[in-house]
Amino acid sequence: MTGIHDLLREDLRGSTPYGAPQLDVPVRLNTNENSYPLPPDVVAEITRAVGTVAAGLNRYPDREFTELRGALAAYLGQSSGVPVVTEQVWAGNGSNEVLQHVVQAFGGPGRTALGFTPAYSMHPIIATTLGTRWVDGLRGQGGQPFDLTAASAVAQVQAHDPNLVFLCSPNNPTGTALGLDVVEAVYAAAPRAVVVVDEAYAEFARPGTPSALTLLEARDRLVVTRTMSKAFAFAGGRLGYLAADPEFTEALRLVRLPYHLSAPTQAIALAALRHAEAMLGSVEAIKAQRDRIVDTLTSLGLEPVPSDANFVLFGGLADAAQTWHELLDRGVLVRDVGIPHYLRVTAGTPAETDAFLAAMAQVAPTSLRSTAPQSVPQSAPPSVPPLPLLAEERPA
Ligand code: PMP
Repeated sequence: MTGIHDLLREDLRGSTPYGAPQLDVPVRLNTNENSYPLPPDVVAEITRAVGTVAAGLNRYPDREFTELRGALAAYLGQSSGVPVVTEQVWAGNGSNEVLQHVVQAFGGPGRTALGFTPAYSMHPIIATTLGTRWVDGLRGQGGQPFDLTAASAVAQVQAHDPNLVFLCSPNNPTGTALGLDVVEAVYAAAPRAVVVVDEAYAEFARPGTPSALTLLEARDRLVVTRTMSKAFAFAGGRLGYLAADPEFTEALRLVRLPYHLSAPTQAIALAALRHAEAMLGSVEAIKAQRDRIVDTLTSLGLEPVPSDANFVLFGGLADAAQTWHELLDRGVLVRDVGIPHYLRVTAGTPAETDAFLAAMAQVAPTSLRSTAPQSVPQSAPPSVPPLPLLAEERPA
């Protein structure tokens, strides 16, 4: 008898779905959400906005979401100083959907996408589930473990001649922003490629970090993706967007499903954008916690990677999976991104940071790589049996 497994596409058999555990623990710092609830006046405005569209839900929403595109263009223009017009903006239900539209239109069977690992693990998943060949490029060729230099990126682009290149700045999971020299060099070295710069965490970058938006003019194959999930504290609202050449966004209309942005989604995103300043009000507080995490982990003997995002990747652990369990035992959920000796933690409220740092201080004396008992070889399985959830934790 034919089972579902036999009917499934061969290349999907045995794959693990993307997903971090959604555990009910006191301190959840594993998905780079913004820990701050929306300000009450914005909640009131969002509620009103839903009320105004509710009676019209018998009709399809504006398929071209023109007003929302205009509001996103205005926000990008104001925040970056780069003029952005409505026709340059595209949006979807989270930036994952926007990335999917890009791959649907410009990737696919017979085409190749190149990314530089470790980076956002959905990039290869979106590419390969749409039939695009994925090439895992390398980082760390410039001396620092997760650096991506222009010379190394160009050499890899030339070797693979991709149709799509994924850059991520600030990079998830490492946290560091890319120099624009890398974006410019990759663009010039890949004359037939669409170059995507995923800037999901741009608003958290340290002062002086320019956005790839500044490179859009005269580069019609360059795409900058953003999201309201992080700095805007709007992950549950599901609104991601991109800026590119108007002809590029026009092409995305070929692949989107009709009416993909519901009327409530458009209404609540517009309401949130009308209050952009209040919605972004937590960004500086989160950056302060991020910097505090870096400083404190360093003093504990760990090796945090400099971060331009709302999270910190830190190394120096003898056994990352074991430390992950030990933190969970103390009510703190962080992310095991599958890089040996490293874990990633989201910067949340001061109280959440207190809880994480207190738990880390407790476990650090036995968790550090340099102080690990000699009897634990690096390749040994964790001494705490992995929870069934760990398999899910890995693909991130
Ligand atoms: N890009 C990066 C680098 C991310 O880390 C994430 C979320 N973790 C996304 C895109 C997607 O976010 P969303 O779909 O919520 O916009």
